[in-house]
Amino acid sequence: MLERVLQEIRGRRRFVVTSHARPDGDGIGSALACGQILRVMGKEAEVVMHDGVPRIYQNLPFADRVVQADVVPENDAVILLECDSVQRTQLAGLENCFLINIDHHASGRNFANINWIDSAVMATAELVFRLARLACVPVDRDIATCLYTALMTDTGSFMFVGTNEHTFTVARELVLAGADPALCARHIYFGHSTAKMRLLGAALSNLHREGPLAWIWVTQEQMTRLGAREEDCEGLVNYALSIDDVQVAIFFRELPDQRFRVSLRSKGEVNVSTVAESFGGGGHKCASGCSIDGPLAMAVSRIVERLRAESESLKAD
Ligand code: 5GP
Repeated sequence: MLERVLQEIRGRRRFVVTSHARPDGDGIGSALACGQILRVMGKEAEVVMHDGVPRIYQNLPFADRVVQADVVPENDAVILLECDSVQRTQLAGLENCFLINIDHHASGRNFANINWIDSAVMATAELVFRLARLACVPVDRDIATCLYTALMTDTGSFMFVGTNEHTFTVARELVLAGADPALCARHIYFGHSTAKMRLLGAALSNLHREGPLAWIWVTQEQMTRLGAREEDCEGLVNYALSIDDVQVAIFFRELPDQRFRVSLRSKGEVNVSTVAESFGGGGHKCASGCSIDGPLAMAVSRIVERLRAESESLKAD
């Protein structure tokens, strides 16, 4: 499929590269690297994101060139990274474009004209890296920095289940190509806003425990009062998962329309992607997300019940 992707790229000139709304490190890093790879191949390439670049990724090479838009600009093809549908991008106008879908989610879907989905890799960045190599594009320090940051974030700093010797081989190649691990980590893990830390405090003061489950939430009122943005919610769920006897952690973020965004994280025994999928979301076995109707108590009980139905280990208390 990689050969087919390259063939379709070679036959076209003007590209838009995008990822999902509220992009994470893999979405941003892969898109920035992919855009540059296309430019080195002599193509016109614009990286377009519905939500722009979150603060912690703004130091990445090429981040300042990202276009924030609601509608896809004119193009010969759009490359969608990390998306299971055109809707995930929140960009309008994709229906009539030639679409190339590159993804590593097990819940990925064949919605595009060309679909390269490989759930064996830990990050879409690895697929973009393969694309660069097959296209004979030299992976320089800037491209390597984007790809390494994507790999680092999607593996939870090389800690998530699935991280293996191969992951480190890819990381090593990216470091050899010029990525600086300490510098990449610094921007991500030591680049937070004060508002995010205050929001973390608010979320943790809402920590709720039930057997091997833990959940936290933030309300619209808290976010407004603390001056926090949507992107400040990224990663908060991991603090709940960091508790010794917690197997699954859930984060609820109230949306302006009374619905809730849900982030699910598992230490490995429970597959949270099937739970997210049953509410119309998706993701990975250990990290997934969905949206659900409020009020909060209802949202919590529906998710918790679905989790319990999913796993025997969550029933024991
Ligand atoms: P997060 O909880 O950080 O928003 O997402 C965790 C993982 O689940 C990511 O890989 C993300 O792409 C995926 N994910 C989150 N929300 C959704 C959703 O609504 N639909 C799909 N298909 N995947 C999602």
